[in-house]
Amino acid sequence: MTPQTVHVLKPPFLDSGHAEDAILIAQKTSGPLTYNLVDFEFDDEPLPRTALMHSASDPHGFQSIPEPGLLRRLLGREAMDRMNERRPMDTPEAQEFAGDWLQRLQQAEARYRFQNDVPPEDFVILLTTRGNVENFFVIPGLNGTRMAGIQMNHYVMQNVPSHILVGYYLMALPVMLLAYGGLDLDEYLEKHAHRELRGCLNDLCDDNVNQLQLKTKTGDICVDCKRHFQAQNLNWDLVRQMRQGFELIRAIQLHLEDFLEGFSQPALTVGMKPKFEELGLTVPLSPKEMAVYVTFLEAGPEGIVLNALDEHREQLHDAYGRRYNRTDLEEIDRVVNRLVNPLDPDLQQVITKTNRKFTDVLGAERAEAYLISGPRGDAKSISLSRNLIRRA
Ligand SMILES: [Zn+2]
Repeated sequence: MTPQTVHVLKPPFLDSGHAEDAILIAQKTSGPLTYNLVDFEFDDEPLPRTALMHSASDPHGFQSIPEPGLLRRLLGREAMDRMNERRPMDTPEAQEFAGDWLQRLQQAEARYRFQNDVPPEDFVILLTTRGNVENFFVIPGLNGTRMAGIQMNHYVMQNVPSHILVGYYLMALPVMLLAYGGLDLDEYLEKHAHRELRGCLNDLCDDNVNQLQLKTKTGDICVDCKRHFQAQNLNWDLVRQMRQGFELIRAIQLHLEDFLEGFSQPALTVGMKPKFEELGLTVPLSPKEMAVYVTFLEAGPEGIVLNALDEHREQLHDAYGRRYNRTDLEEIDRVVNRLVNPLDPDLQQVITKTNRKFTDVLGAERAEAYLISGPRGDAKSISLSRNLIRRA
């Protein structure tokens, strides 16, 4: 696939930094698309402002940010601090209907393409500060166009930081324009947008626009939409780049929540695999790892001394048997026998792997309470508060 550019246009007076925050995230993805932020005159009126009630204190209570290494490396500490401290813009009164809003942006797009000789396969996304009466936050041009508009000061931004939502759509829109390009907006809404919440790219969230945040946390595409993408023969590198961007947004989002909620711990749902349902995350433990993990969970705060696991043989056998999905039933005994044998390193290896998987999913700091840990030679336990454990 030939490289393509996503031209993200903003009016020069939009210098609050919100656009830069969003593009920074998109620019960290790699794939066929390159993102450029361009100043372009198209929102010619001064911002009509409403007197928004900002509380005197900082609404987010931002202080300093204990960001995980990955994000710090990718975005840089300063950029993360800047993003997290950025206050939302005031929301204007809407003065035009969505159709006119889109048409105005499409005229600007045409002018931009003409003046800059932009190839037709490139995408143009316009960041506007004017609202529409129907209160759409994003409108993809569809109808064979490769353009979309995003309202940078939509009221949803009062609750969700703009770099998260705008960043999400900068990455979602090229894929949406290709996958649904042949349709008009009404057809798209009718056939592909989800009225119910799925945590999918195509969730409409028209009942409650604040639910848009759920998408940024799941970073997901549902089975129906994935099938549609495949049927459309979409370039998978493009989808991959979008997913990579979603992952990044999700990581930033989870991290931001830690920060906003004073590092609250998510509840752990114990089923076939451990899940953090509120975060949309699953820890990919094997049946054996899961059996060991559940046995330690059930042992409670006293924990288990590793060479005394034999005392918990029955629980372990039961936990493994329930998750064992092959036919050789004697294998259950063999696996359990190895685990409870103090001379066999198997148990230690399983614990190490299990802990690593939790750390990979949650990050080192956040994962701590979920790990099987304890002083060397002493009992090992999982320190997670029992009221944060749910049964599937
Ligand atoms: Zn979907």
